Amino acid sequence: MNRLAAGFVLLYTWALPLHPSLDASEAKNQGGENVAVRAEAVSAHSARRSGESPTSASIDPGSPGAATSSVGQQVATYTLPPDLYKKAHDRSRIHFRLALVSLVYGLVVLWVILHWRIGAKYRDWAERLSRKRFLQALVFAPLLLLTIAVLTAPLDVYSEVVEKKFGISIQGWGSWGWDWLKSQLISMVIFTILIWLLYIVIRRSPRRWWFYFWLVSLPIIVFVIFIAPWVIAPLFNKFEPLQQKDPTLTTALGQLVERAGENIPRERMFWMGAAEKTTALNAYVTGIGASKRIVVYDTTIAKATVPQIVFITGHEMGHYVLLHVPKGLAFFSGLFLLLFYLGYRLIGWVLARWGSKWAIRGLDDWASLPVLLLLLSVFSFVTNPAANAFSRHQEHQADQYGLEVTHGLTPDSSQVAAQAFQKLGEVDLADPNPNPVDVFLFYDHPTIPDRIQFSLTYAPWTTGGSGEFVK
Ligand SMILES: [Zn+2]
Repeated sequence: MNRLAAGFVLLYTWALPLHPSLDASEAKNQGGENVAVRAEAVSAHSARRSGESPTSASIDPGSPGAATSSVGQQVATYTLPPDLYKKAHDRSRIHFRLALVSLVYGLVVLWVILHWRIGAKYRDWAERLSRKRFLQALVFAPLLLLTIAVLTAPLDVYSEVVEKKFGISIQGWGSWGWDWLKSQLISMVIFTILIWLLYIVIRRSPRRWWFYFWLVSLPIIVFVIFIAPWVIAPLFNKFEPLQQKDPTLTTALGQLVERAGENIPRERMFWMGAAEKTTALNAYVTGIGASKRIVVYDTTIAKATVPQIVFITGHEMGHYVLLHVPKGLAFFSGLFLLLFYLGYRLIGWVLARWGSKWAIRGLDDWASLPVLLLLLSVFSFVTNPAANAFSRHQEHQADQYGLEVTHGLTPDSSQVAAQAFQKLGEVDLADPNPNPVDVFLFYDHPTIPDRIQFSLTYAPWTTGGSGEFVK
């Protein structure tokens, strides 16, 4: 459902973790992954284009032929051998085109729904069935969401085909389909409630519904973010306390937490079983309050060295300590309010002009929903670069935090960070030379070349200064 109603979904998606297809904002993001609260990992780029990797046999540190730029080699800049370079560049071009196509395709799907009066038909069915608004919502919303999901499924499948072709996804189609279904069901439950509330608010306050709906949706979003790590994420992957998985790593991470001088209980660090589905390296921070946690993929633990994992975890710790989840929530809430306001300002005009053609009686008619989604999708595309710039800023801060917290703890910490990004880029196929328009529109992480450059040059200590976040 994602790429469609990208606007509507933007925030909520956000709440929903980590799964490519769950990552509703495919629109916004393409092969997503934990978008989960966007604090994801060091991931090469966005959730949308979340990690991936080649068949990685060649990158596994343990394997003989491995690693062009493996552990011992000094990294001065992000480089890939010619074959990997081509792969990474090709994939990046496909992702960029796919992101643009998805956007247009999403709008076309909504237009088709309006043109064929599909929403109006579902409304008729819902109204025939019951006079009770809640029961009508129970019929109308899932039908419409299902229709959107089915019509956009070909792009979801194609994205997965691409990820398989590049060796990033190693998930079987049965398992992928089951995950897709689960994510659609979860979205359906959440959105049905939201849609029901939306139309209550529209009927009660035709002029201020955009504000009141925003207000009532906030606690729901916070609640979803809060329960997601417990209730939603485990539906897609296995989680275990990190300290039980790897004693060496646990000791190293213990030193890291101590160095950070922050109270991050060990129980807040989790290992995630990702290896059965993806070859990509990643880690992320998610949850809020009591559910807040750092998650590290098992693929990261398998393919990175302990000092590299410590840096990656330091980056995640940055998201955690710098309160990036609540700050992101505040930012996206503000953005959302703007989107709703814009929707409110325009929908009257659109309905006056095409409403009768589409068999929509008015704004308070269930059938107006596709119009609202269409408007939100258009606006969210316009505001998306701002959202991504915000995300890139947070990611940059987390990188800086990671560098500061490992300084003095890990020998040659800048080089270790650069090596971690090099590895991440190789395995997840980060484009060494991305299209700047792509970066502007869709990257929610800084590019790998930029991150390596920053890692190697950030050194306030050399001039007698200290870190900004970690003293
Ligand atoms: Zn991050």
